[in-house]
Amino acid sequence: EASAKAAAADADRGAPTIFDKIIAKEIPSTVVYEDEKVLGFRDINPQAPVHVILIPKARDGLTQLSKAEARHEEILGHLLYAAKKVAEKEGILDGFRVVINDGPTACQSVYHLHLHVLGGRQMKWPPG
Ligand code: ADP
Repeated sequence: EASAKAAAADADRGAPTIFDKIIAKEIPSTVVYEDEKVLGFRDINPQAPVHVILIPKARDGLTQLSKAEARHEEILGHLLYAAKKVAEKEGILDGFRVVINDGPTACQSVYHLHLHVLGGRQMKWPPG
């Protein structure tokens, strides 16, 4: 998709995304989890009763998972463990889904790596 490809190229050049504004609190969000490295906030267009977006506060070149390098191992692990803590806080530890959309073919629209933490309803498989 053309606009997603342009967004990816802009982000690779270091351009900010909407998530930078959320981190800077320049636009409002409902924060459900925060520590020194990551921020979790409610998705503005939720696809389930619980839909939290979890991001590294420092993008550090991680526009998308496929751009990951060895130096990102620690933050990637930190994000996944934070996803469990979000699920615990939101009361969905009995069943939840963690999704990373990578690139235009997977419908990634914001080029700042993020995990979707989804739950609160019966999930279906395969996803669309
Ligand atoms: P998609 O848009 O296809 O879900 P992504 O995986 O890139 O692709 O997800 C970006 C997510 O960020 C979307 O679920 C979207 O609803 C969410 N989002 C975009 N802007 C905001 C915002 N201002 N506050 C909260 N969530 C947002």
